[in-house]
Amino acid sequence: MSYYAPSIEKLIESFEKLPSIGSKTAARLAFYILDASEEETNEFIQSIQNAKKNLKYCSKCYNITDTDPCPICSNPARDQSTICVVEDVRDVVAMEKTHEFKGLYHVLHGSISPMNGVGPDDIKIKELLARLMDGTVKEVILATNPRVEGEATAMYLSKLIKPLGIKVTRIAHGIPVGGDLEYTDEVTLSRALEGRVQL
Ligand SMILES: [Zn+2]
Repeated sequence: MSYYAPSIEKLIESFEKLPSIGSKTAARLAFYILDASEEETNEFIQSIQNAKKNLKYCSKCYNITDTDPCPICSNPARDQSTICVVEDVRDVVAMEKTHEFKGLYHVLHGSISPMNGVGPDDIKIKELLARLMDGTVKEVILATNPRVEGEATAMYLSKLIKPLGIKVTRIAHGIPVGGDLEYTDEVTLSRALEGRVQL
């Protein structure tokens, strides 16, 4: 049985569906919304709607973007001969924050994980290979997370890409094993990028 009015209950339920939000936090957020001004509430609703409406995947690198191709892919100053492969959109942001990398990205949207039923066809691997076919790309940096799945994905990609005559490197030093690229600080990440090794 619920102690709250049905509309508050519904709002709490919606917040509870968000990642890492428990029932207490959900209730706190719901009551915050109830106390917020109409203007504040409308702005919140608008930003959710705009994000859902305008955001799409870049048709080249699969980064999330308002415009297709994304600002990175359409920037002529970026080095077209180097592609940094990452698992997640948030890893692009982490890499960009280092200001070290001037090439392009490719977002896989996951990593190969047979345990979780994720195979090579479930992530953007064939899309990556298609980008390598015209000979522009000279180096692929594999910046998947240093976890079992990320390492397996890097090995898999390396085996596919090396026969194309493209240099394949893997970010190496600095990132703790079992760590997450997204939560790695800029200095550690830029050192990892500098210390990449050829595979
Ligand atoms: Zn792009």
